[in-house]
Amino acid sequence: MITRSPALLQRPDREAQPLDVQSPWQTQLARAIRDPHELCRRLGLDDAWLPGAERGHALFEVRVPEAYLARMRPGDSRDPLLLQVLPVSAEAETTPGFVNDPLEEADHTPAPGLIQKYAGRVLLIASPACAVNCRYCFRRHFPYEQNAPSRVQWKKTLDYLRADATIHEAILSGGDPLASNDRQLAWLVERLDAIPHLTRLRVHTRLPVVIPDRIDAALLGWLAATRLQKVMVLHINHANEIDAAVVAACKKLRDAGVTLLNQSVLLRGINDDIETLAALSERLFAADILPYYLHVLDPVAGAAHFDVDDDQARELVAGLRRVLPGFLMPRLVREIPGEASKTPL
Ligand code: SF4
Repeated sequence: MITRSPALLQRPDREAQPLDVQSPWQTQLARAIRDPHELCRRLGLDDAWLPGAERGHALFEVRVPEAYLARMRPGDSRDPLLLQVLPVSAEAETTPGFVNDPLEEADHTPAPGLIQKYAGRVLLIASPACAVNCRYCFRRHFPYEQNAPSRVQWKKTLDYLRADATIHEAILSGGDPLASNDRQLAWLVERLDAIPHLTRLRVHTRLPVVIPDRIDAALLGWLAATRLQKVMVLHINHANEIDAAVVAACKKLRDAGVTLLNQSVLLRGINDDIETLAALSERLFAADILPYYLHVLDPVAGAAHFDVDDDQARELVAGLRRVLPGFLMPRLVREIPGEASKTPL
């Protein structure tokens, strides 16, 4: 079982400094539901879901924060938010072509916590944990234990960045980078800021969506302090994920000069129809977030039941184009290991 304990979040600076007093978002993170029985009970699901939930949980632990749970419809086993986080027995099935490391990231880690797949930018695994465990996650088998650098190791990674002037953008990823504490993030961003050839800081995160209180004064403080241009790529798959608290969190980010983009994953039974995708784009824009990518599923072991085939994906996007203005159209893409960029479908 993958266990991404919040205790790990403190690891990089644990050696050097005392633990922070918990912020409200950290308390919410620590109290996230981690028991499949509890998830089923809280949503009033039939006991018939339990064996599957236990089986899936044994492969990839359940994790759902209360703020996200509150947006689900009790008693509705087809709720599009629940389906993203509820473990099911299909996760134990083996499907040809669905593997543990579908993007072959293990071949692209030249320094601890660093993945370099594309020219000009690098991905930094800034946190080994997430606030929510999405069942279709392409990193559900990622060896986070080997990629959770201490500060000493981060210094080596920063040396690597300093030595390569072709790198202009640092992308904080994870896990979810915002699951790390602000002192650690401020420390890291300050050092990235000091590398002259870096111009942009990108943050890939789902935390402002699943725990909107994550966008607090401490986070806005280190964002405001950097000279780097700031882009945040959120991960939202359904309009129901965007409630008033998410809109308010996004406004704070926009006010802090952060460009907000969204990437979604096309998921069978969750957002694989034109009406749902159109509603998502409209809702994103109303929250000042631009639709960026619509990814077809990465073929990760345990997630084949979410797959939508390419022809259906293209048909959906053609239909979407008929009902949306161009600026609300996400780009339909696939990530292919070894390619120099995402591949349009
Ligand atoms: S938040 Fe992102 S990295 Fe974390 S489980 Fe979900 S999809 Fe994966």
